[in-house]
Amino acid sequence: MSRKILMIDDDRMQYRLTQEHFKNFRGETFDLEWSPTYEDGLAKLLEGKHAACLLDYQLGEHNGLELIRAAVEAGSRMPIVFLTAESSESVDIEAMNAGALDYLVKGEISSQTLERSLRYALKLGETLEALRRLATRDPLTGLLNRREFDRILAEERERSLRFGHPLSLVLIDIDHFKAVNDTHGHPVGDAVLQKVAGRLVGGLRDVDRAARFGGEEFALIIMQADRKVAMETARRVCAAVEAETVKIENGPELRITVSAGAAAMPFDAKNCADLVAAADKALYGAKAGGRNRAVGYDDL
Ligand code: GH3
Ligand code: MG
Ligand code: MG
Repeated sequence: MSRKILMIDDDRMQYRLTQEHFKNFRGETFDLEWSPTYEDGLAKLLEGKHAACLLDYQLGEHNGLELIRAAVEAGSRMPIVFLTAESSESVDIEAMNAGALDYLVKGEISSQTLERSLRYALKLGETLEALRRLATRDPLTGLLNRREFDRILAEERERSLRFGHPLSLVLIDIDHFKAVNDTHGHPVGDAVLQKVAGRLVGGLRDVDRAARFGGEEFALIIMQADRKVAMETARRVCAAVEAETVKIENGPELRITVSAGAAAMPFDAKNCADLVAAADKALYGAKAGGRNRAVGYDDL
């Protein structure tokens, strides 16, 4: 099936013209879909069903730069090729700074330059996505890495202050994990980390985020959640890990449990460092209380 390209342009002629160019492509064939307005274009960008987007500078009352910024702000990663009516250096640079991967001057477009630009943007988009993954994910578990956790927690704290809703953190630590390594070896320990990570993610809502906090410790950022919701999540996660043995391929079947500590903003802490410290204290309480359980900071 051909990959779909989205064209956001208020000029139907431009769409027709681009369709003709697409027929002349020598390499991959693409399906071109047209979106004539800012609102419809933004909605389609955010659906993320297209491989790339051709975006016009002139869009009725809005302009394409606003659209790029809105899409990037909302988390869109779709490669965008910006189309300008005339070559204007400031618009070109602004478009690239806003997040476009390439730009074309409308009057100078040929089938060849359009095809080359699209292929370049698609390739660059894939490379950027791979780099982004490397920079933000833990390679063993695929969860967010510590740096990304710190960044998101700080961002969410700002949001929770601005909108006045609570924000919770659950820290999770595998019980007696050293014994797994000592008994079965490091590779089995690694496999257990992967399986536990999978069960954590399975117990979360889509909006919540899971990170590898350190060695065998994980952190869950629970959005718009007070202590009650945080504790429900913490208990659910402990139960999900305990519920079934962890089966390692060509290896042992292990009974694994985790302990969890929960804390909520603004009740238990006002800033990120204090929130982490509060959840960590609660986690320590869960360990001291016998492990395989969830404890809230306010229970201490
Ligand atoms: P507790 O119930 O008190 O948490 O005991 P524990 O044994 O889980 O805690 P401890 O902190 O003594 O041991 C954690 C172990 O986790 C030690 C370390 O070697 C292991 N570890 C940390 N990162 C990794 C990893 O990436 N892979 C593997 N296989 N082991 C790891
Ligand atoms: Mg630990
Ligand atoms: Mg542990």
